[in-house]
Order: sequence, then C-alpha cells, then structure tokens
Amino acid sequence: MSLIIENLQASVDGTPILKGLDLEIPAGEVHAIMGPNGSGKSTLSKVVAGHDDYEVTGGRIMLDGVDIAELEVDERSRAGIFLAFQYPSEVPGVSNANFLRAARQARLPEGEEIDAVAFYKEMYAKMDELEIDRKFTGRAVNEGFSGGEKKRNEILQMMMLDPRYCLLDETDSGLDIDALKVVAKGVNSMRSPQRGFLVITHYQRLLDYIQPDHVHVMADGKIVKSGGKELALELEESGYDFLKTA
Ligand code: ADP
Ligand code: MG
Repeated sequence: MSLIIENLQASVDGTPILKGLDLEIPAGEVHAIMGPNGSGKSTLSKVVAGHDDYEVTGGRIMLDGVDIAELEVDERSRAGIFLAFQYPSEVPGVSNANFLRAARQARLPEGEEIDAVAFYKEMYAKMDELEIDRKFTGRAVNEGFSGGEKKRNEILQMMMLDPRYCLLDETDSGLDIDALKVVAKGVNSMRSPQRGFLVITHYQRLLDYIQPDHVHVMADGKIVKSGGKELALELEESGYDFLKTA
C-alpha cells in the first residue's frame, strides 16, 4: 500500500509548475517536504488532492495501485486523500458540525444514515483533544477564525475523515508553540501502519514534534534531494544555497 507519484507534471494557466516529480509514500511512513518559497510545494499538494486550477500534463498519481490523476476532488477524497490547506477557505453559512457530518455521510454507502449520537460524541472527543472550544461546532467553517484556529480545524477535519493519505501544507505556519504541540499530538495520534503522511513545512521546528521517516527538498517543481530526518537539521543550518550551485 502506497501513494506513488511518478514523473508528475502540472501547469497553471499554461505555466509549468511541477516538472517531473517523483515521490513514493508507503503506508505507515511520514515524509516531509521542505523547499524555498515558490518551489511548488502547495501546488504538489493541491494537484494530488485534485484542485481544478491545475492541469496535470503528465505522469501518474497511484493510490494503492489505482491512478487517481483523472478523478474529481470528491472522488479522491473518498478514495482516501486528505489535504490540510496552507490557507484554509472559509465556508460561510455552513456550520462546522454540519460540514463534518455531510463529509462523513458522503463516505457511507447509498441509503445508510450516519449515527448522529456517535458522530457528536466522536467530534467532541476530537475537539477536546485538539483543544478546540465546543462553540466552534456551531460556527461557519473557518469564518472569522484566527490563523491558528483554522489550522486546528483542518486537523479536526482530518481526524474525522480518517483518510488513508494525509497531506499537510504548512500546517505549522501561524501556530504558536503550544498550538503546534496540540496539532502534532493530533497528527501523531493518527500515525498507523495503514496511513501515510506528507508533511510540507518551511521550518524544521515542526519535525521536532512530528518525526518524519524521510525528508525531501523540493526546488523548481521537482524533488532535488532526499534523506533522513537529519536532512531537515542540515537545511536549517545551511539553508538552500546548495541549490544554486547544484
Ligand atoms: P510553494 O508552496 O513551494 O511556496 P506554490 O506551489 O505555492 O509554491 O507556487 C509555485 C509557483 O506556482 C509560484 O510561482 C506560484 O506563483 C505559482 N502558482 C501556484 N498556484 C498558482 C495559481 N493558482 N495561479 C497562478 N500561479 C500559481
Ligand atoms: Mg506553499
């Protein structure tokens, strides 16, 4: 079981952003991607999730042996892909609880109804774990949330949807150290041999709390260097200057 990205190429408005990217995330592993601003990290996460601003112009996205590159965003979600956005969108008029409930309902077979009591119980338990106040159940998704509240809300969605492969795009940005620890605890609680993670981050700090199995450096739409978790520390010290001479 794995998420395998092969020679992925993608463009936005005709401009190539991903230029032949290869990456394999076996279930059970946490892979981190670091890299300078503009290297295409968010694009990668959105292309894998199926965001329709991006056109896949080549390559494959294999989820447990099935190419999902042509599937719609909701089909990929049901297939087990989850993306926690760098900049989560606000969804006015839809409460957090109803949003989660609809997403869960969409995963059930035709004709099967969600068990509301069990659903709320689970949601409250996860909110407590993420230190999200219960009043957030009734608030419109992300509307007027602070940066940190939005990031925690993304993790709540992730925990409620039980995805197979979790993509986290700079979930650490905008979080203070306490919120970062709470988020990392939520993520770590989901680590399992059945689930893979791709954690995009600009800062090594997150990786102190979510220990990756592998670290990759992305530059100009490709993975240019891979290593173990010590690579993140090296990057913190020496920066990305090596990319210029490479
Ligand atoms: P990173 O997350 O590594 O900072 P991004 O994936 O956000 O990089 O961006 C990579 C490049 O693609 C940038 O030059 C950015 O301006 C461009 N890009 C990404 N998404 C869009 C979009 N929807 N429209 C136009 N340009 C985009
Ligand atoms: Mg980004």
